[in-house]
Amino acid sequence: MFRRAGLLLCLVALAVCLPLSTPARASSPPVVAIQAGHWRTGELPEEFARLRTSTGAVAGGVREVDLNVDIAHRVAEYLRAWGNQAYVLPSTVPPAYRADAFVAIHSDGHANRNARGFKVATHYRDWIASTTLVRELEDEYAKQTGLPKDWRITDNMRGYYPFNSGLYEHTIAEDTPAAIVEMGFLSNAADRHFMITNRDLVARAIALGIARFLGARPVEGWPALHPMPRGDIVEMLHDRTPLYAGPGKSFKLVDRAARKERYAVVERQGGWAKLFFFTGKERWVEDFQTMQVVVP
Ligand SMILES: [Zn+2]
Repeated sequence: MFRRAGLLLCLVALAVCLPLSTPARASSPPVVAIQAGHWRTGELPEEFARLRTSTGAVAGGVREVDLNVDIAHRVAEYLRAWGNQAYVLPSTVPPAYRADAFVAIHSDGHANRNARGFKVATHYRDWIASTTLVRELEDEYAKQTGLPKDWRITDNMRGYYPFNSGLYEHTIAEDTPAAIVEMGFLSNAADRHFMITNRDLVARAIALGIARFLGARPVEGWPALHPMPRGDIVEMLHDRTPLYAGPGKSFKLVDRAARKERYAVVERQGGWAKLFFFTGKERWVEDFQTMQVVVP
């Protein structure tokens, strides 16, 4: 099933031997962090307290978190066997965590039990390094598992909490390429059966995608990410704070923000503040007792 190990080792070896821009790292193997989705959410820090109850999908007697943890450890084992440093992280990411790749492992759940397939996404802030990681993971996962691709990438995936560097403390560093993998739907009998009976294949598919990404690193390193806009970082004071498409209640109510969610303010206008969304979405909030500035 896995004939690519030889090629892969070459790619990894090549990546290690190429001159790196940071001399201190030149001799050390790449560092990969695998986050097991929902693992120890109860220990999330105060800034993510709202996610402590996010314990993941359960279907057919299988808990998502158990599958995620098992697969994450298998992925890390493969990566180590191929000469990388690999760590399995729980829900809590150390502050400004830096790695050559960060991959969060999840499995999906849906009320519609026909929903199936896998998907891979990165943060709103499209960055060539992260989009390359996504592409390599998608390619390898599709090829190795034969599972269909689910095209419904959600805002929850693109706004995945540890990706939000600059807004919160316990996130990956800005320059850490990152992806989130939804391996398949636990709520779908076929996907679930596939995942629980082919754990090693699933893990190796993810590890292969990561190794391909590590081998794709340009000699001069990945180009820098666009900087975050400079503006106040604010924290929402209440749950379900309404967000509008423009600076006033006459505009459409398009979204709601949760208490303790953080955003960068990029514009202020007549008692309204525009929140920065990487998708280019217009999201305005009334700037009166709705939020507090945490980083001016
Ligand atoms: Zn999940």
